[in-house]
Amino acid sequence: MELRTEFVTRFHRSLATPEWMTGLRRFTEECLRNVGGLQGIEGTGTVTAKDNEEKNMGPYDSDKYEFRIHALVNRTAGDSEVDNYESALVWEPKQNNFRLRWDRVTTAEHRRARELNDRLSEMASTPQGAKTVVEVLRATNCPICGSRIRIEYYPEGQVWWGRCPSNRNHFELERWYQDWKDSPVSWEDHIVDRTCPSCGSAKAVVGILYGLVRDTSKIDDAVWTLGGCMVGSDRWHCKACSKRF
Ligand SMILES: [Zn+2]
Ligand SMILES: [Zn+2]
Repeated sequence: MELRTEFVTRFHRSLATPEWMTGLRRFTEECLRNVGGLQGIEGTGTVTAKDNEEKNMGPYDSDKYEFRIHALVNRTAGDSEVDNYESALVWEPKQNNFRLRWDRVTTAEHRRARELNDRLSEMASTPQGAKTVVEVLRATNCPICGSRIRIEYYPEGQVWWGRCPSNRNHFELERWYQDWKDSPVSWEDHIVDRTCPSCGSAKAVVGILYGLVRDTSKIDDAVWTLGGCMVGSDRWHCKACSKRF
């Protein structure tokens, strides 16, 4: 890892001796190995001081030893993309060593997932746009793990969402069904997306409505079954075989 300082104060400039920089590089490379999610430790980074005010560099000012690292970390050979690494660390002059406050990795895949989410969220704000979003999601795999994005529809009046089935932190876009109530597609067109894993029925599957329902006569049992007050993790009930999933 190549590190370049962007120090402003005289204090920091004189602190950054070649020896200090070697220690910082070694420490950072150790952090890069331990953080997880990176493909290597090579790349380029900048080191900045948290406090850049000359007047805060006195003997009793402790913030002057806090630093941030922003690095672009190379991936496997032939991959032109980079991953981002960020950290906050403290220099401890008495121990002659660095201490890590926190660090985090944002991979190229994470960036792509976030961009996809931003783009689709904006597009989903009109009924026609929401329909396009569904089409895009159907043709898109999770940008992080490659799983097919699963689109699910809660019955009428509720939400629909597209998410990565292996990890919802990878990708999740949730919208109100209301957004596209007037669009040419209705939730019934997508009933196939919640096929019962046990008997394969799609048409017999209804949503589980959790919570206290005072007037059960208003519940359309072609759409809902009651799930009780405790919200469970199952969302669907198959009326053909009683499986919940
Ligand atoms: Zn995923
Ligand atoms: Zn079933």
